[in-house]
Amino acid sequence: MSNSVSFFWFRRDLRLHDNTGLYHALKSGTPVQAIFIFDTDILDKLEDKKDARLVFIHEQLEKINAQLLDYGSSLLIEFGKPLDIWKKVSAKHSVKEVFVNGDYEPYARERDKTIKEFLSAKGIGFNSYKDQVIFEKDELTKDNGQPYTVFTPYSKRWKALITKNSFSPATSEKLLGNFHKGGPFEIPSLSSIGFKDFKFDFPSSSLDKNILTNYAEKRDFPAVNGTSRLSVHLRFGTISIRKLFREAWSVSEKWTNELIWREFYTSILWHFPYVIHSAFKPAYDRLEWIPDEDGFQKWCEGRTGYPIVDAGMRELNETGFMHNRVRMITATFLTKYLLVDWRWGEAYFAKKLLDFDLAANNGGWQWCAGTGVDAAPYFRIFSMDSQTQRFDPDFEYTKKWIPDYGKSTYPDPIIDYGFARKRCLEFYKSGLAKS
Ligand SMILES: Cc1cc2nc3c(=O)[nH]c(=O)nc-3n(C[C@H](O)[C@H](O)[C@H](O)COP(=O)(O)OP(=O)(O)OC[C@H]3O[C@@H](n4cnc5c(N)ncnc54)[C@H](O)[C@@H]3O)c2cc1C
Repeated sequence: MSNSVSFFWFRRDLRLHDNTGLYHALKSGTPVQAIFIFDTDILDKLEDKKDARLVFIHEQLEKINAQLLDYGSSLLIEFGKPLDIWKKVSAKHSVKEVFVNGDYEPYARERDKTIKEFLSAKGIGFNSYKDQVIFEKDELTKDNGQPYTVFTPYSKRWKALITKNSFSPATSEKLLGNFHKGGPFEIPSLSSIGFKDFKFDFPSSSLDKNILTNYAEKRDFPAVNGTSRLSVHLRFGTISIRKLFREAWSVSEKWTNELIWREFYTSILWHFPYVIHSAFKPAYDRLEWIPDEDGFQKWCEGRTGYPIVDAGMRELNETGFMHNRVRMITATFLTKYLLVDWRWGEAYFAKKLLDFDLAANNGGWQWCAGTGVDAAPYFRIFSMDSQTQRFDPDFEYTKKWIPDYGKSTYPDPIIDYGFARKRCLEFYKSGLAKS
């Protein structure tokens, strides 16, 4: 790579088609070298070295590399701290510009700021584009410029701002001939970066139109195949958000609303990054959660004696997925029945969910605990019996994940509902009254 090249840095946008930052890189006029960095700042925090998310990423990188080989190019994969890697890359190559898609998480913002400063000092441009969402940052605010903190007006404004170009594709795939010719580079194995490689059956990345058509009626029933299962693809950007809106916009308003929830929580994280440590509503940080290690452990393992809760946790532990209704049920149980800090549950989900996304997970947990934006009020405490009657009336989901359901080996409830409900109401009421 003696002549000048520009780089496109893949992060949570692992695709060549309809990729905004990549599109701008490829049409910039300088040959483009694609790069991915296995970031040790992130990887070192993953305790479990058998992590299906790494398998997912690795598979996508192999696919991207295979596509690039067809164009005489190859994906450069590095392993280390991003700043060290950019020091190395910029010393070795004559880099003109670096292109990325923006990421709204606090760690990523800090990382990009550091890299941008480093590259700028060397006269290298760092160009960041919007790709993950339809509206970002201050593009969608209230009339007074403040961010929305209630979903319904946010979503109304979101819909009002849509124009015919909002979902237009960034046609990056038409420019693939503009990649820098070189390589092939070696793809490091997962074991060489300290992780285990294993077979895993990931959900498909195509949107099933039948699911969309029946979404409003079926989405709440965990035994039914009624939701898209696209979350892991949205998380890692193996599917374009614009493409999904193009396909679904006129088919299911209910489903597209869920994509707007995703944007809402992304916007909350952008505007209020403190939510990663604290309650969105500061008064709720006065609550003194119970450090119930034993109850938490039983919850993690799916041994609370509440079948719908245990089924959810076992599904999560076995598959890395949990149905949305059951995420709400299990999170409510931990926070409102056991009064365990929502951050404990959030961290456990973050470890286990294939689709773990900081904004959606934090938003979901704070919603269930009543501490978040537009959250379920604290006095709304699901009865697990009525949730089961409504959403798993034939115990199909429950029995699927709890083979010993109804047998003597299945544990008794670790807490009585009546007791838990009363205690919860008192806990929030007195906690919030403290000054
Ligand atoms: C406690 C809790 C934690 C959660 N953690 C995550 C998480 O880490 N990552 C994640 O992607 N979603 C999270 N969710 C939201 C939701 O449960 C999942 O997005 C959904 O279950 C994924 O399944 P699906 O792809 O079949 O969704 P579908 O019902 O088909 O929805 C389509 C897409 O819309 C988005 N979406 C749907 N519901 C929500 C929501 N409530 N908030 C934000 N985005 C949404 C997702 O990207 C999803 O893939 C959480 C919800 C709760 C209550």
